[in-house]
Parts: sequence; C-alpha cells; structure tokens
Amino acid sequence: MTFYLKSLVALLDLFSTNTEVQAYKTALFYCDLCVYSTNFKSHLKRHRMRHTGERPFRCSICNKGFITNHNLRYHASSAHCKELEVHQL
Ligand SMILES: [Zn+2]
Ligand SMILES: [Zn+2]
Repeated sequence: MTFYLKSLVALLDLFSTNTEVQAYKTALFYCDLCVYSTNFKSHLKRHRMRHTGERPFRCSICNKGFITNHNLRYHASSAHCKELEVHQL
C-alpha cells in the first residue's frame, strides 16, 4: 500500500465509521491503480481487468469480449437468444 493510500484511509477514518473503510483496512489484496480492496485474490484479478481492458471471455458468435463468464452468458442469451459454450482464452 502506498503512502498516499494510507493517508487517504486515515483521512476517511476521521470522518466516517463506514464499513467500507473498515473493510479496506482489513483487506488482504489491494489494487495498485485505485482504492479498490478485497479479501479475495480472484476478485482483485477480475477488478484489474477494468484497468487493463482485458476481456478473456469471448462470444463465439459476434466475437465481443467480456470480463466474466457470467457477462458472456448473459450477452449470449439476450443478444443471440442462445445458451453458449464458454471458452476462456
Ligand atoms: Zn483498481
Ligand atoms: Zn455475441
């Protein structure tokens, strides 16, 4: 955690007993590009895709990319009215 984030959390703590702040302080994994934090490594990995623009799940019909399997399945059923075989690249 950078000094900037530490002071930001300290500052937020002064004004709030917000559970998000508490969660941030006890979280195990931190995004180094924003203030996102989580206790789950898989959540952080998924979150990092927001910064990288990575879309590992691809629709085999229109080739559109999605961050999660769930998003792709939703897309396939709503856009193509179809259950899709999901292949992770
Ligand atoms: Zn982030
Ligand atoms: Zn599609």
